[in-house]
Amino acid sequence: RAKKAGGNRVEPFRPAFRTFGADRLQIETDLRRAIERRELSLVYQPIVRLQDAEIAGFEALMRWDHPKRGNISPAEFIPIAEASDLINQLGLFAFDKAASDLMDWQMQTGDLPVFVSVNLSSAQLLNNELYNDVRAALARTRCEPRKLKLELTESVVMENPEQARLILSKLKDVGLGLALDDFGTGHSSLSYLTRFPFDTIKIDKALVCDGTDKRTVLLRSVISMARELDMQVVAEGIESEEDAVELGNMGCEFGQSYLFGPPIGYDSVLRLLKERFPLMKRA
Ligand code: C2E
Ligand code: MG
Ligand code: MG
Ligand code: MG
Repeated sequence: RAKKAGGNRVEPFRPAFRTFGADRLQIETDLRRAIERRELSLVYQPIVRLQDAEIAGFEALMRWDHPKRGNISPAEFIPIAEASDLINQLGLFAFDKAASDLMDWQMQTGDLPVFVSVNLSSAQLLNNELYNDVRAALARTRCEPRKLKLELTESVVMENPEQARLILSKLKDVGLGLALDDFGTGHSSLSYLTRFPFDTIKIDKALVCDGTDKRTVLLRSVISMARELDMQVVAEGIESEEDAVELGNMGCEFGQSYLFGPPIGYDSVLRLLKERFPLMKRA
């Protein structure tokens, strides 16, 4: 069957998460220069309200246009950055850029009822400078903290729960939103929902697209639990209109997937915002 579809062509097996040896070292060296060479950028994927498909916010996702290799996926370069000190620089670049992009959009549309969510790695949480760096970026961009969210995965908080809880409550006090990302993958512990000051959970696409008959039960209980805890719920990777309706009926408020729109660049976001929020446009 596979042969019929693909002819005689054999796709090379290229594992995204495993770049070894010299190659990996080269990527790390190149990554070290990528920011100043302006090879890194952000794209933004809409997060929509399931009820009316209105845009509630965007997730900022990093892209690397490598001069020789072309686009390298964050699934490949983020782990390399995490294994070195580079992730702090990259993470700060993303936070600062996302905040300043949002301010730029608002300069052209007026105040917007949307947030921008930025991913945060575990190594960043352990960096003593994180808090000051975040404060400095907020001061520099003058972005309202309540319009920004940080997305963290469970492994981030698991690695060092005490330190994580301390820094997260400080960031929360600044006014930033905190989302628990990729919920439902691997080693989930429900206690994270209550022990850390998260206001949002993002249900991983693996759970949203789970093909088994336990899917509905799992989703229903995660969503109702989140709501009892006064948390917002974003379902990732919704593939069909049907699933969107089903999740909405379960009480899930938001969705983020190719169905609602792929990640897009700065200009496309601006166009989209002007179209969706025309009344906020200034003369
Ligand atoms: P994530 O934070 O869970 O981001 C969601 C990923 O799912 C993105 O992949 C997005 O493009 C993809 N996605 C969105 N809708 C769909 C869908 O309908 N189906 C499928 N199959 N996938 C969908 P992307 O951009 O390749 O990023 C991968 C991961 O890399 C992110 O997962 C995040 O963990 C990490 N990452 C990306 N940017 C950053 C960053 O600035 N900092 C850090 N620390 N990590 C980042
Ligand atoms: Mg994320
Ligand atoms: Mg995610
Ligand atoms: Mg992920």
